[in-house]
Amino acid sequence: MWGNVIQRSCQRALDLLFPPLCVWCKVSGTVLCARCAATISWFRPPLCYSCGLPPGNGGIVCARCQHQPLQLNGVRAVGGYQEPLRSCIRALKYQGNRRLAEPLGYLLARAYQHYGLRADMIIPVPLHHEKQQQRGYNQSQLLAESCAHLLQLPMYTTLLQRLHNAPAQVTLSARQRRKNLQGAFSYTPKDTTQSLFKRRILIIDDVCTTGATLEACAAPLFAAGAQTVWGLVLARPLGSAHHNQ
Ligand SMILES: [Zn+2]
Ligand SMILES: [Zn+2]
Repeated sequence: MWGNVIQRSCQRALDLLFPPLCVWCKVSGTVLCARCAATISWFRPPLCYSCGLPPGNGGIVCARCQHQPLQLNGVRAVGGYQEPLRSCIRALKYQGNRRLAEPLGYLLARAYQHYGLRADMIIPVPLHHEKQQQRGYNQSQLLAESCAHLLQLPMYTTLLQRLHNAPAQVTLSARQRRKNLQGAFSYTPKDTTQSLFKRRILIIDDVCTTGATLEACAAPLFAAGAQTVWGLVLARPLGSAHHNQ
C-alpha cells in the first residue's frame, strides 16, 4: 500500500516538474486531452461478428473470416490504426510514455462495454522476457492493468508465456504470421487453483493486424479448457496499411 502512495506522490511531483503534454495536440495538462480523445473514430456497425472489422454484413461473419475462420471467438477494437490513436500507441510503446496507459485503458474498458463483451479474467499478450527487459515494461500489460481495474476484473500476467522471440512480422502474410507464431505461447499455471476450465478469457493487446498473435495466445488457453477467448485491442490497421505489427 505504501508503495502505491509513494508512487502516486512521485507521479504528482513529476507532473508539477514536467507537466504532461497531449500526445497529439501538445496542449499542457494531460497526456491525451478531451478534445483529441473525442476525435478518435470508433468502428461503426455493421461489423463482422468474428473479426469485428468493417465493412461487415449486418452482424454476420465477413468473407475473409468465412474463408479463414479466426481461431478464437472474436476480436474487437476501438478503431482503425489512425490518428490520434496511432500516436498514442507509438508513444506508449516506443517512447516510454507510460502515462498513456490510463486514458487508453479507459478506452478499452469503454469498448468492452460498448461491444457487450463478457469475461471472467483478463490476460495481456505477453512479451518475450528478453524484449520486456529491453523495453522495461510490457505495454499490453499496462493497458490491461488499467482496463481490468476499471472493469473490476482479475488480471493474470503469469498464466501465459511467450516462448519464442519471433522476428518482426512486418513483411509477412497472414498465413506466414500464423505459421511463425505456432506454439509461440504456453499456458504456465503456478498451481491447480489457476484452472481455466470453463473460464471466459479476454486477451488484451495494443494493436491487432491479422489476428495471428491473438490466435497463438488463444490456442494454449483453449487447450487448458477455456470456454471462450476474445481479443480486445485499441486499433486495427485497415486496408493497405495491414503491415504495422
Ligand atoms: Zn490534445
Ligand atoms: Zn471478419
